[in-house]
Amino acid sequence: MPLQRLGRLLLSRIGCDCPLCGARVAGARLCPGCEADILAAEPGAPPRCPRCALRLVRGTACCAACLGVPRSFARTVAAFDYQPPADALILMLKAQRRLSMAPVLARLIAAAIARDGPLPPDVLLVPVPAGRASLRRRGMNPAAEIARGLAAELALPLGRGVLLRRREAPRQTGKNRQARRRGAVGLFACAGGVQGRHVAVVDDVMTTGSTADAAAGALLAAGAAGVTVLVAARTP
Ligand SMILES: [Zn+2]
Ligand SMILES: [Zn+2]
Repeated sequence: MPLQRLGRLLLSRIGCDCPLCGARVAGARLCPGCEADILAAEPGAPPRCPRCALRLVRGTACCAACLGVPRSFARTVAAFDYQPPADALILMLKAQRRLSMAPVLARLIAAAIARDGPLPPDVLLVPVPAGRASLRRRGMNPAAEIARGLAAELALPLGRGVLLRRREAPRQTGKNRQARRRGAVGLFACAGGVQGRHVAVVDDVMTTGSTADAAAGALLAAGAAGVTVLVAARTP
């Protein structure tokens, strides 16, 4: 038995605590109650923009940002909005470096895909590469950890090193949409291997969509047939 499968099997036999409520669960996952709460839309929550997963103003079919500037990606699946209580899962992975949160978030994205509609067959999963500073700070790339969990969860191929950073981006935190967009242009290059394939770009959080758009642009320029974005959380 491959080591990774053996590891997962062992983990599934060991009792863990649900990271949100502390209930005893089998393996690194949320308890069924927390998982259902996170994946269910809040009562009365408007539907999401099909392209970027932003919550829509009632009665509109697409968000103003996607109408204003066409995006390179066709669809975004977001498991939950980046707000309490689910945002804690992202913080545990990124700020506390709890790697066991990566498969938890991957499971939620897989469940969101089952909830929202299937991906094109044989889609290639490609994580957004981390910047050098954040790699140094965290010692890992959260997007790559989630993509690895998702590849195992969905039995899909994982493209490592497909996307490369061409330069270091200025820190995006606190910037407005236009500044983030300018900062992300030309950020990525594609090393190849995507010709004619559908690619799913994996990231932890989507804020304005500028990073995902730059990644999708590089993949399409390298011949990808289409790009979907998969994120654990969408900034509302
Ligand atoms: Zn729970
Ligand atoms: Zn949109």
